[in-house]
Amino acid sequence: MSCKRGILIVVSGPAGSGKGTVLNKVFEKSKDFVYSVSATTRDPRPGEVDGVHYHFITKERFEALIAEGGVAEHTYYCGNYYGTLRTVIEKDLCEGKNVVLEIEVDGAMQIKNKIPDALLILVVPPDFATLEARLRGRGTNTEEDIKNRLERSREELKFFDKYDYVLVNYDNAIDEISDKFISIIEAEKSSTLRNKDFYNKFFNI
Ligand code: 5GP
Repeated sequence: MSCKRGILIVVSGPAGSGKGTVLNKVFEKSKDFVYSVSATTRDPRPGEVDGVHYHFITKERFEALIAEGGVAEHTYYCGNYYGTLRTVIEKDLCEGKNVVLEIEVDGAMQIKNKIPDALLILVVPPDFATLEARLRGRGTNTEEDIKNRLERSREELKFFDKYDYVLVNYDNAIDEISDKFISIIEAEKSSTLRNKDFYNKFFNI
């Protein structure tokens, strides 16, 4: 399908890095982005709404979608499936919107391999102690869940250099970090890689 495609933006970061809060601020400040609502088999947390935060579906339905090729990437994380629905991202990218996937590293690496022009951004906490404090502060995770997520964070950060940009999410700096995020995308729009049309037109290629 021919279309002026938007940028596919992959955002990862350990649980507690605050990537969700950064993204909420970005969406508040700019209408240039759409959030790709993932599907998951985990239970909704208090306040989470089906179709808004996630499409909450059963394990059977998720496995059927994988078999049909309906997910662009997926992972099995802390006992549950998470994945990106192919239909959701294709439509928005084709309409020229910048589509944001908030996904963990396994999924991010799948996207990087399949869609090389995807832009990968890693949101990290300033240090490990801050990460732990944030996870405990949530009060919605069990002790075992917290341990799993901290262990997983160390593993995830090993993928640091596979990402294009890193954003250190200090406490109380959400305005600054969200502005940086928007600036990165603005700069990317002017990258030579994303403006080959101009070059081709100039030289009548
Ligand atoms: P949570 O249970 O805290 O909402 O999410 C757990 C992890 O799953 C987070 O790191 C989140 O980024 C990731 N995640 C959410 N949706 C997707 C998805 O569609 N695909 C992949 N690969 N990871 C996801």
